Amino acid sequence: MTNLAAPSSSSQALNDLNETERKRILAKSALFAPPTAMTEDGRRDLVGLSREELEAVLTDIGEKPFRAKQVWHWIYHQGVTDFSKMSTIAKPLQNKLTEHFIVSRPSVTTEQTSKDNTRKFLFRFRDGQEAETVYIPDRQEDRGAVCISSQVGCTLSCTFCHTGTQKLVRNLGAAEIVGQFMAARDSYKEWPSPKGETPRLLSTIVLMGMGEPLYNYENVAKAMKIVMDGEGIALSRRRITLSTSGVVPMMDRCGDELAINLAISLHAVTNELRDEIVPLNRKYPIEELMAACRRYPAASNSRRITFEYIMLRGINDSDADARELVRLIRGIPAKVNLIPFNPWPGSDFKPSTKERLARFAQIIMDAGYSAPIRMPRGRDILAACGQLKTQSEKLRRTIAKNPDDKSEI
Ligand code: SAH
Ligand code: SF4
Repeated sequence: MTNLAAPSSSSQALNDLNETERKRILAKSALFAPPTAMTEDGRRDLVGLSREELEAVLTDIGEKPFRAKQVWHWIYHQGVTDFSKMSTIAKPLQNKLTEHFIVSRPSVTTEQTSKDNTRKFLFRFRDGQEAETVYIPDRQEDRGAVCISSQVGCTLSCTFCHTGTQKLVRNLGAAEIVGQFMAARDSYKEWPSPKGETPRLLSTIVLMGMGEPLYNYENVAKAMKIVMDGEGIALSRRRITLSTSGVVPMMDRCGDELAINLAISLHAVTNELRDEIVPLNRKYPIEELMAACRRYPAASNSRRITFEYIMLRGINDSDADARELVRLIRGIPAKVNLIPFNPWPGSDFKPSTKERLARFAQIIMDAGYSAPIRMPRGRDILAACGQLKTQSEKLRRTIAKNPDDKSEI
């Protein structure tokens, strides 16, 4: 007899604890739920529904479930938003679909392209809330990453992050999360979805925009399952990275269900400092975070966990910090992204010097890890990390205060 299959009592206790925490997180997340995906005249948005849900709404209007496959193809493979363009569907059914449903996109409030070709979108959703999405093209090749927001605002108030100064308004729905990617693809006219090995311009998704994706797990997971579906957008899980400030109990679930790449916003190597600059650390300290990384199933040599480390002058950028970082990640297939701090008005932090950055990177590389220094992109349009905060809100406030002063435009 072997008892290998039975979990040890300590791992069982951890599971139970995490399960309780997960329930609490999901209950809290529900308080910030997005509005139902419905137009004022009662038409249901088909974007953001799972395949099963799509079948169900089609059955509700008297159609056969197989229609879901056809409609799915038009929405996610062809990128069509108008039922009358779904040419394999007969006219009467096209009309019926138009009567009951829509295929939505968020509307574009602003679209700016930086000198370095980074493109920032401010998207507006049906209830008027807005969120930012950024396309960051690769410098060498015709491909790039779409940085997607998961919430309007953020509850977590990391001290170096501009988004953290905007309190959480609400979670984004699955339609709004997928919608950001689809609307960005509209802008580059990248439809139909490239298949198999065909190169893609919008080739990866990074959940690194506004918000904490693991505090809106259900909607994020649903959206990513849609994006990965092989008969639609068909993006491989290897091309999706979720960044978290360390919501430990949800990391396990994300690993089990989605197995997409993980990025951890580490930023400090002692609990004392991390408690201060990433306040979530008080709940899930570094040891628990690293243990969750070790459990993460996608971690293997080909799929390393990324540790993001923002370089703050005189705060977290010493040689000793670098050595401790190496010690913490030992044994985890990992790479470290060093992010020079992007200053924003009102923040007291300063970016580390170039020499410090180079030295810090060298210590990590000497230990055998890759440690690229992330050059800020789209600086001229405030598209860089941590600067994604709805500019239009600021603008509206300025105009309300002084209607003639457009200095912030
Ligand atoms: N909430 C998640 C996802 C947002 S990712 C998370 O924190 O991981 C946003 C990334 O930009 C994070 O790594 C964050 O730490 C980093 N960031 C925030 N403010 C920044 C700033 N001012 N300069 C550089 N990077 C910043
Ligand atoms: Fe929220 Fe991430 Fe910004 Fe922290 S760094 S405030 S978790 S968006």
